[in-house]
Amino acid sequence: MSIKSNLQEIKNNLPQEATLIAVSKTKPSEDILEAYNAGQKDFGENKAQELIQKQPNLPEGIRWHMIGHLQRNKVKQIAPFVHMIHAVDSTRLAKEINKQAIKNQRIINCLIQFHIAEEQSKFGFSMEEFQNQLKEFDWNNLSNINIRGVMGMATFTSDTPRIRREFKTLKKIFDHLKKDVFTHNDFEHISMGMSQDYKIAIEEGSTMVRVGSAIFGARNYQKNA
Ligand SMILES: *Cc1c(COP(=O)(O)O)cnc(C)c1O
Repeated sequence: MSIKSNLQEIKNNLPQEATLIAVSKTKPSEDILEAYNAGQKDFGENKAQELIQKQPNLPEGIRWHMIGHLQRNKVKQIAPFVHMIHAVDSTRLAKEINKQAIKNQRIINCLIQFHIAEEQSKFGFSMEEFQNQLKEFDWNNLSNINIRGVMGMATFTSDTPRIRREFKTLKKIFDHLKKDVFTHNDFEHISMGMSQDYKIAIEEGSTMVRVGSAIFGARNYQKNA
């Protein structure tokens, strides 16, 4: 299977309005170019360092999505070009992105990461945590970030009902925030679904799927270790 045919097959499973983000982490520029030349415009990386290294050597038409956990001291380097930051998981990070966006005279699209997996994980808000944050600071006051929606990751498991349940949780969080907190039209995205579970995610309301291995093949981490 080629990258081009993989992309086509996934697109065939997605509704027209859903955004496919090709997750290119650990993959070389040649693979990214191959996908780009097949018409793919949105790419995702989960490490700031890797994103910074790849971006200057690839077409300007690419929309880069930072999908992984982001440390505040890395924001500065991606702020000049990043299209969307998916894993905003603290007020301090949101403020730093806003600060760097102002310096670059840009508006940066952001998604708020929620912890939906029924297992322990370090990253993402619970709804309760986020509401407590909001009492102290209103994210709507950040002038140069556009909060476009929410992001979450299901448990890595073959238990499909469980994955579905976790995606439903994120959809509920989105609906709640859309109604009460982020009422602007741009708040429209639910970033959920990866190679293993993107079809379930779409059924549960995802508008953005982040697919890596189903496009580019399995990742070889050893080579990069
Ligand atoms: C790697 C990664 C993906 C894609 O994973 P695949 O299983 O290869 O599709 C999606 N989201 C995040 C945050 C990732 O780190």
